[in-house]
Amino acid sequence: MGEGDPHIHVEVKVVRSQAAVRTVLAATFGLAGDLPSTVATGCGLRVPYAMTSPRPDRVTCLACREHARAEHLRLADEIERIGGLPGSPVAAAEARQAAARHRALAERFSSGAGG
Ligand SMILES: [Zn+2]
Repeated sequence: MGEGDPHIHVEVKVVRSQAAVRTVLAATFGLAGDLPSTVATGCGLRVPYAMTSPRPDRVTCLACREHARAEHLRLADEIERIGGLPGSPVAAAEARQAAARHRALAERFSSGAGG
């Protein structure tokens, strides 16, 4: 099988593609402008880009929800760390706000499974 998979996944790089903190990410990782036609997912598949979403209300693949939750939490920590550095591309207050957004998203990815 594998054809007709009804699940919506998250891209494995979910937090980078979404980029609530694009400036931080561009400065830190570099950010590609092109959207690929297929992408790696958080659960290890490769699916059309259209079968992925960064939105917690749309992602139905449980493994991907878990991946997204972990990634958002990890990135929130990372953003706060970067925001606290001298010479950081973002102000500390801005970094805190961005981190809070990612933590809120992580929470939304953790709920909704079974409930
Ligand atoms: Zn998945």
